[in-house]
Amino acid sequence: MKKICEKCGLPKELCVCEEIARETQRIKIYTVKRRFGKIMTIVEGIDSQEIDLKKLTKDLKSKCACGGTTKDGRIELQGDHKEKVKKVLIKKGFPEDAIEVR
Ligand SMILES: [Zn+2]
Repeated sequence: MKKICEKCGLPKELCVCEEIARETQRIKIYTVKRRFGKIMTIVEGIDSQEIDLKKLTKDLKSKCACGGTTKDGRIELQGDHKEKVKKVLIKKGFPEDAIEVR
């Protein structure tokens, strides 16, 4: 039996819903101050159904040379790495205008 997309009703191989989802997802990068004045960079809005967040977190940690975790579908990195994270995400194929740095 052919798989049909529930959203658009097209066979899965013709469906572009997932691509559209990737293009329309909004990724937010911002920093928060934690206890003792520690700065954390938060990356949210990445679709964890399509993207392996754990792997992405690992990549970001090594690119930014910092610690970090994946928590509740968000990536948390120690320190302020907003611009660096944006560059890495663009390199990985995320559309630049979907990335919002606050
Ligand atoms: Zn579809």
